[in-house]
Amino acid sequence: MRVLGIEGTAWAASAAVHDTGTDATRIFTDAYQPESGGIHPREAAEHMREAVPQVVAEALDHARETAPDDREGDESPSPPVDAVAFSRGPGLGPCLRIVATAARTVAQRLDVPLVGVNHMLAHLEIGRASAGFSSPVCLNASGANAHLLGYHGGRYRMLGETMDTGVGNAIDKFTRHLDWSHPGGPKVEEAAKDGEYVDLPYVVKGMEFSFSGIMSAAKQAVDEGVPVEDVCFSLQEHVFGMLTEVAERALSLTGSDELVLGGGVGQNGRLREMLSEMCDQRGASFHAPEPRFLRDNAGMIAVLGATMAAAGDTTAVEDSRVRPNWRPDDVPVTWRSDEDV
Ligand code: ATP
Repeated sequence: MRVLGIEGTAWAASAAVHDTGTDATRIFTDAYQPESGGIHPREAAEHMREAVPQVVAEALDHARETAPDDREGDESPSPPVDAVAFSRGPGLGPCLRIVATAARTVAQRLDVPLVGVNHMLAHLEIGRASAGFSSPVCLNASGANAHLLGYHGGRYRMLGETMDTGVGNAIDKFTRHLDWSHPGGPKVEEAAKDGEYVDLPYVVKGMEFSFSGIMSAAKQAVDEGVPVEDVCFSLQEHVFGMLTEVAERALSLTGSDELVLGGGVGQNGRLREMLSEMCDQRGASFHAPEPRFLRDNAGMIAVLGATMAAAGDTTAVEDSRVRPNWRPDDVPVTWRSDEDV
């Protein structure tokens, strides 16, 4: 099966073709880069309006060029893809609506099924699929989210989550205070290489965690003259330490010995190192997918879309309204067997 995926929840206008036969995924992305400050919903939507048709056209050209031989020379050739998957939520409403309109149009034009995919479950499932894990705990460390999920009885369950902002958004807010351009996460990672430890707030309450206090303290430390490298280093140690602590507790509570990482912040080497060391110490396996599948991308939408389509979980056009606040624990998981824990 070949599936076209379309992503556009916030900054990445992205389209991809995933072929389940060869397991190949080709991704085309045009990223929105704010001129100043963070992601502006209206500007992001304008970017989607221009860039989504372009990346979809590139992906469909790729699908046609790489179509299996039996499709060539056919008098009524098969469509270049067998289904169209799109990120239906969560995300910025104006961006989601553009993506959904594009997906509906292509699916109807090609006369193939439409699949509405939960963006957070796509972050998670791409890691589970590439690791070959059976029932992992999943840490989603992305821009707008930070949570731990485990599967039980037909749904992913929320094991722990942020009490305020997403982890990437928190880091980006700190770097906006420094007038650094968006996105801030890679710049903090770079600056942290020359930093030393200073104390910052560390807030974990059971399975919940909070970033707002630490971000205010980090801004204040810089304003008071603490070297920015030291603040960046300590920010990473505290924030990623919090995520690692709660991930370890989630493994312990569920009895799972598999951890997968998802989301754009997962590109950070220090976070991966901490999680990997924690897993080593308790004899668990850790997996982070390759970076192109960690940040927002249509590849993960196409991969989960293919799995859902194979399970018959497609979306009628009239039921395909976008869901900006769609929680991952609200999705009936139709593509896993009841034998999974
Ligand atoms: P979501 O998937 O929750 O909708 P999102 O749309 O913002 O979030 P992602 O691509 O998952 O998108 O993550 C983007 C975030 O990742 C940004 O906040 C960015 O600063 C952060 N990020 C990217 N690279 C790194 C890095 N090397 N270290 C830390 N953070 C990073």
